[in-house]
Amino acid sequence: MSFYYEYEKLKELPFQQYFQEFSNLDVKRVLNKSKLSPEDLLVLLSPAAENFIEEMAQKSHELTVQHFGKTIQLFNPIYIADHCVNHCTYCSFSVVNHFERKKLSMAEIEVEAKALAESGLKHILVLTGESKTHTPVHYIADSIKVLKKYFPSVAIEINPLDTDEYKQLVDAGVDGLVVYQEVYNEEAYKSVHIKGPKRDYRYRMDTPERGCEAGIRQVNIGALLGLDDWRKEAFFTAMHAKYLQSRYIDADISLSLPRIRPHLGEYEPPSIVEDRHLVQAITAFRLFLPRSGITLSTRERPEFRDNLIYLGVTKMSAGASTEVGGYSQCDAGTGTPQFDISDERSFAEVKKMIKEKGYQPVLKDWELLV
Ligand code: SF4
Repeated sequence: MSFYYEYEKLKELPFQQYFQEFSNLDVKRVLNKSKLSPEDLLVLLSPAAENFIEEMAQKSHELTVQHFGKTIQLFNPIYIADHCVNHCTYCSFSVVNHFERKKLSMAEIEVEAKALAESGLKHILVLTGESKTHTPVHYIADSIKVLKKYFPSVAIEINPLDTDEYKQLVDAGVDGLVVYQEVYNEEAYKSVHIKGPKRDYRYRMDTPERGCEAGIRQVNIGALLGLDDWRKEAFFTAMHAKYLQSRYIDADISLSLPRIRPHLGEYEPPSIVEDRHLVQAITAFRLFLPRSGITLSTRERPEFRDNLIYLGVTKMSAGASTEVGGYSQCDAGTGTPQFDISDERSFAEVKKMIKEKGYQPVLKDWELLV
């Protein structure tokens, strides 16, 4: 099976007609339901639902507290290499951008891990650009083994792999996978992924499923908002999550909706996604998928992130660096980050803010006992 077959059917829906025709009455009807259908999700993502953001936010808050308590799990990205063979128009690491590329040695990864672990952080996300030549599976596996000495939970955001390759990384200690489809609209996908293996839309779409098949415990999917109509993109993301949840009941499926940030290059996103739209999408996700985690990165501004804590977000990065060796290398802060960060507060500052809001910052919620 593949979500691609579902996508092929869903993409034929008359989205624009639906979005124009849904009324206030439709939104009120959906807000009174406890279990939502895909059509109900479209109602919550429609322009009509913009009149009900307060009600959606209240319901989203209640459902989040019911399923997750007042907790925010914290994690940080750790970039170990930025070599990439793809040309994605929206990313600084694109192969067409010229800067001095880096790849950390095992000794450098250990130094980076020590620096990051000092904050007390226990969950990390390991990132590379996408290049099987520069960062082959054995390099990633060796890196994981080093990082596992410091962090009980290690997730990866690297080039998509085959199932048996993911199994090798699970054996090395990986328990989480982050892979964004970037844009579900297949035509838009081809237009922003100009060159490289990432042009294979279907292989990327099946990646979360291969990760689940390999036994990865947490799988986080998402769309990069700005590349196409955010209402449709949010809909496909939620439907993809629902599909995975129904087939891989042991996996913890979560979602993200990052917005495009400034980066190297001239690319201008075709769709502007305002704060209120992101709030609408996040609260619609929560109402449709009450048990799914929702991750928010430092791409968003501090005051906006602080408010989203109440509205459905369950996981945040804090004090993040998006450049290779950004926590320990002597030239940290002078390299090329993957994208610009909006929330530059330290890990300790974000932790304090979460406590002040009456929530518990969770540094560790899982460890494999062997
Ligand atoms: S988005 Fe990923 S694959 Fe695309 S250029 Fe950036 S690092 Fe490479």
